[in-house]
Amino acid sequence: MRSFLSPHPQLYTVQMSIRVRFAPSPTGHLHVGNVRTALYNWLFARQKSGAFILRIEDTDLDRSEKRYEEQLMDDLKWLGLSWDEGVDIGGGCGPYRQTDRFDLYTRYADRLLKAGKAYYCFCSVEELEREREAQLKAGSQPHYQGKCRAIAPEEAGRRRDQGEEATLRLKIRDGIVGFRDLVFGPLEVDCDVIGDFILLRSDGSAQYNFACVVDDACMQITHVIRGEGHISNTYRQILLYEALDLSLPQFAHLSTILGKDGAKLSKRHGATSIDEFRRRGYLPEALINYLTLLGWAPERDGREILTPEELVEEFSLERVNRSPAIFDPDKLNWVNRSHLKKADPTRIVRLALPHLEEAGLVPKEADSETSRWAADCIGFLINHVDKLEDLPAEFSRTFSFDPEAGLAAPEVQEVVSQTGAREVIAAFADYLNERDFVDFDVYREAVNAVKAQTGQKGKNLFHPIRVSVTAQASGPELEKLIPLLERGSRLPLPKKVMSARDRARQVKGMLA
Ligand code: GLU
Repeated sequence: MRSFLSPHPQLYTVQMSIRVRFAPSPTGHLHVGNVRTALYNWLFARQKSGAFILRIEDTDLDRSEKRYEEQLMDDLKWLGLSWDEGVDIGGGCGPYRQTDRFDLYTRYADRLLKAGKAYYCFCSVEELEREREAQLKAGSQPHYQGKCRAIAPEEAGRRRDQGEEATLRLKIRDGIVGFRDLVFGPLEVDCDVIGDFILLRSDGSAQYNFACVVDDACMQITHVIRGEGHISNTYRQILLYEALDLSLPQFAHLSTILGKDGAKLSKRHGATSIDEFRRRGYLPEALINYLTLLGWAPERDGREILTPEELVEEFSLERVNRSPAIFDPDKLNWVNRSHLKKADPTRIVRLALPHLEEAGLVPKEADSETSRWAADCIGFLINHVDKLEDLPAEFSRTFSFDPEAGLAAPEVQEVVSQTGAREVIAAFADYLNERDFVDFDVYREAVNAVKAQTGQKGKNLFHPIRVSVTAQASGPELEKLIPLLERGSRLPLPKKVMSARDRARQVKGMLA
């Protein structure tokens, strides 16, 4: 039975189910590193039918902002990482925002103070700085050397009563502190290098390690899964669990995510905030897929494209890799492209349309005919882009027509100088010219007619036909493009689309 002072006595009953938490500080946008932490917690909880808790760690009052708290919840919701307890939905172990839990920290601090395991420190900032500099100069790792430990508790109490400012520090024991990390294996450090650290600042607010332990214990967290940067905090936290006589959760630290150049991931490596990935047109399931693969791989076969449901099923902490993960934007693009192809077409149209509207390529209040055409264009072009923000450029490339520049390109010149190319181009233009509406069937008939008329086949037939419609040597499937050009040419679009008929006529004229 746990012995901690829970504000929720009803939860004393031993609960063996898995409880994990994501505990972001709302001091900036969620980025790749902390989202992967959230994700691994979520996957683990969902797989084990446990609880995933969202706790807001806002004890740094100067840097925490409400808008970041809201943004991070939006980002998590968008990614589909739903939580079971949290600031917005409450739960049995709330409140879930640390600034709403200060009374609780004070109670735990009193307990340590009364047990003689914590003491007031009256050292000034300048004094501590001098001590730090001296240690650095001597080549040792700076830590508080415990000067105020010697002050008798009665005297410390008197000085406090007289209004003297003081922090509260934990009395660190001697020896080794260690644990078996679920990812990194056994880890330990000599308590000597830690030093009595601060639990409560002089204004009475709780310092991170202290608030974290009190919360993880009160929230009955069974597994603490977080970035490897926190390993040094974990030693401190274990000493706190010991001092408070609380049972330890298990710890799993996740390796740092690096850029391809081996440097810590930063703005310079491109988009790193979730908000930005969302704006650029990455799908949440693609990000989930890619980020899960950053430090983990499924046990069976080498599958890399997995749905969130499959990831939940297959995820295991045992298979999390301890070597640094490398964030590769090209791989993310490939994963996103695969998910774009798999996704429900109606959803893709809904997500993609704003990108075309913003770029002024499709009218915002389109009539139904134009909307249908735009949807078909999206369905056609989506196979050619990595992310939705690339769609406008792909759209423009596909639907704009510049035969002068096109025909001047060496690869197009090469096609035009092929045997019989000009005859094919002329015959194709003439055939289309006689038809009112050029759809898939008419295009097929045209190809057969031109083939019969000119005797050309294979690339000698198809390459010139492509040039006559696009003035380019390569590009998307003509049988899909041509009907879209025909329909587009009849619509009130911001940028006029030219039909295959008019294009072919123009190319024929220029080559004549
Ligand atoms: N607020 C801490 C952070 O954002 C959480 C650390 C933890 O998970 O314990 O890094």
